[in-house]
This record gives sequence, C-alpha cells and structure tokens, in this order.
Amino acid sequence: PDGTSRTFDTLLSEVFGFASFRPGQRDIVQAVTEGQNALAIMPTGGGKSLCFQLPALCRDGVTVVVSPLIALMRDQVRALREAGVAAGALTSGNTDDETEAVFAALDEGTLKLLYLAPERLAASGTQAMLRRIGVGLIAVDEAHCVSQWGHDFRPDYLRIGELRASLNVPLAAFTATADAETRAEITTRLFGGSPPQEFLHGFDRPNIHLAFAPKDGPRRQILDFAAARRGQSGIVYCATRAKTETLSKALREDGHPATFYHGGMEADARRDVEERFQREDGLIVVATVAFGMGIDKPDIRWVAHADLPKSIESYYQEIGRAGRDGAPAETLTLFGSDDIRLRRTQIDESLAPPERRDADHGRLNALLGLAEALECRRSTLLSYFGDSVTTCGNCDLCDRPPDVIDGTDAVRKALSAILRTGEN
Ligand code: ADP
Ligand code: MG
Ligand code: ZN
Repeated sequence: PDGTSRTFDTLLSEVFGFASFRPGQRDIVQAVTEGQNALAIMPTGGGKSLCFQLPALCRDGVTVVVSPLIALMRDQVRALREAGVAAGALTSGNTDDETEAVFAALDEGTLKLLYLAPERLAASGTQAMLRRIGVGLIAVDEAHCVSQWGHDFRPDYLRIGELRASLNVPLAAFTATADAETRAEITTRLFGGSPPQEFLHGFDRPNIHLAFAPKDGPRRQILDFAAARRGQSGIVYCATRAKTETLSKALREDGHPATFYHGGMEADARRDVEERFQREDGLIVVATVAFGMGIDKPDIRWVAHADLPKSIESYYQEIGRAGRDGAPAETLTLFGSDDIRLRRTQIDESLAPPERRDADHGRLNALLGLAEALECRRSTLLSYFGDSVTTCGNCDLCDRPPDVIDGTDAVRKALSAILRTGEN
C-alpha cells in the first residue's frame, strides 16, 4: 500500500477504533479524499458515515455534512468528539452556548466537521458564513431526501446543488436507496447533471435464505413455517391491520408466543410490543409495515410475508431485519393474484403525482419479477440494486431449480397475465 493508504489505516484504527474497512469503504474514502464527486450507495448499517468522516480528517478546510435528522447529527457529533475530532452542529436543537462554541471553533479554524440541518441552508447568512469559513467538502447523508417522488423528500435538500455550485467544492452523497430513478434524481439535483463517480456495495446479506411461494392456503403456510421454527424470534408482515390480529391469534392457538402490531394501536401499546420483542426470546410479532423502523434486534431468525410487499425496496428492507447478527436466518414471501391487484390499486388510488406512481408501479413490477424468477433469487434481487453476487446457494431456486417444481410455469404465466393487465 502507498502512503495515503497507510494513513487511512492509521486513522481507521486510531481515531475510529476499527480494525479493517468494511466492503467498499476504502475505495469511497480514497475517492472522496481525492476530491472526486461521489455517490455512494450502501445498505443501512453498511458504514456510510465513516466514508465522509475519515476524508474530512485528510482534507483541508471544513467538511459540511447535511443530514436530515437532528438526533442523528447529535449522535455523530458526540461520537466524533469522544474520538478527539473537532466536530460541531448547527441545528434548531442547539443551546446558545453550543452554537457559540461552534462559531468560535470556526473562527479559530479548528473545526473539521460542521453538521448542518437542511433548513439552515435557507437561513439568510448561511451561504455567506460557509463562504467565509473555507469549506473543503460537502457531504450529503441520506441523499435520497432530494427525491421528490420518494418518501423522505426534504425541500431544503434542493438548495444543496446550488450551494455546491457556488462554493465550487467536491460533493459526496450517501444513501441506502439504490433504484435507478433515485440515482438519476440525485445526479440532477445535487451534481448539476454531471454524473458523479458511483459506488455501490454491500447489498448482499448472504446469511438470509430467500424464498417465495404462491398462496395456497396462506394461513396454513405461515403456521407451518412458524411451526418449523418454534422458539425462534420472527416477524410476519401482513397487508392489513385486521389480519395481524387474526393471524397472531392463530399462532397463539398453535402454541407460539405471538402478538400483533400496527399503526392503529396506541403509542404505549406499540412501545410495549417493541420492548417485549427486544427483550424476549422467541416472540413472534405479526405486524404491518409500521413495525420495523427502529427495531434493532440482532437475532431475528425469520421474517415471513403473509402478503406480497408493496415494492422490491420494501421487500429488501423487511427481510433485511432478519439475521443482523450474521447467523443463518430464513424468509418466506407469499404472493397471490389478489395481492398484486391490491398493490396496484393502492398505487393508482394514491394522491402521488403521476411520475411517482409510475415509479411505484416499476418497483412493484420488479418485485413481481423476483417472485417469478427462474434462477437464483439473490442474483435477481441484487442486480436490481446494481450490486452483484458471486455465490448464493442460499435461496429456494438454488436449493431446487424450478424445472423440478410442478406448477411453476403455470404460476408464472398467471402472473405475467396480471402484470400485463396492470400496465394498461
Ligand atoms: P449507515 O450510515 O451506512 O447506516 P453507519 O455509518 O451508521 O451506517 O455505521 C453502522 C455501524 O457500523 C456503526 O456502528 C459504525 O460504527 C460501524 N462501522 C462502520 N465502519 C466500520 C468498520 N470499518 N468496522 C467496524 N464497524 C464499522
Ligand atoms: Mg447513516
Ligand atoms: Zn440463489
């Protein structure tokens, strides 16, 4: 390794306390440190923060970090300070003392990372302040917030492109959302249309077994799946609130510790389920998609979908909650023609603008493509995200190639027929 690469290793261990880079991190750190415009796409938990924090230490000037959540910014600033890095944040959550300390450090020229809440970009004086302090790099965390058709759109993110152009500094954008539309929007809005260098890594979760099955007595299918995994913590996702209640009852009657969770429950009741799931071994939570954000249980051994998720992105997020500890985990996704109709109707009846609805149909179609895949689910899934897989051997299609499964072709034809109807 050359001198820079040794510097990276030294900073990695001495400042951040990590023994080695995660997949993809070194290349991103290198490119960002060299001042290339970069778009890095890595799944949640992949280690994106390090990819701008480490370059910030190697580059001259202040690295401005735009991030959508004040709590996340504060956590990162605290962790950096504990590691001895001069970092500060300007957010509406600051005390006056904190803000003064940040400005003092900026005046002395000692601050390396300045976290900035997006709404600050709209405040008068911010641009002038940023010009004065000598910004060396802009890092944009959760860059998909710039996408108007996404779920996390933040209008203030639209000001970032302008800021980059006026400061004329490199920009590094980070997100876990990898679909082509979002990437294109990020390129347009943050990079003024000149494509950044793209890095896409680490979407594979090799310990998660992937499987799909057409609905054929779905309640029995879920009960059988759970019975084969008695005593293990699992999640069953359902499309409706009512079904979470009936299915969790059926699981209890089958002797499992099981409960339900959905957005119609009181906040207290929801928190109880979250805490119980975290604490108890072997609990099954039957839930709508409301269950998940903020669930950080490492040993969820299985995730089942009693109904088809709404998109390939949702599918990936939801199965991704299994096996965070790296030990084997299993998934089963059921799908039927009713699900597909329901999902299409939900998209068509949503109040989203037409472009967003088209994108949502595309994400649903990608999931249907995965459901009717004829070879390796994992390679089909990862290729959607632009990532690739070298070995799988851990999906239903690798276990049992489809030509030996009766009826697969009939199912595929039925699905294709529905797909075509939906496109009209
Ligand atoms: P992301 O933003 O991609 O979701 P984070 O940057 O929050 O991920 O990192 C997720 C976790 O991984 C954090 O606890 C972080 O400290 C840890 N981490 C990041 N890089 C490494 C590494 N090279 N070695 C070990 N742990 C790492
Ligand atoms: Mg992050
Ligand atoms: Zn496979």
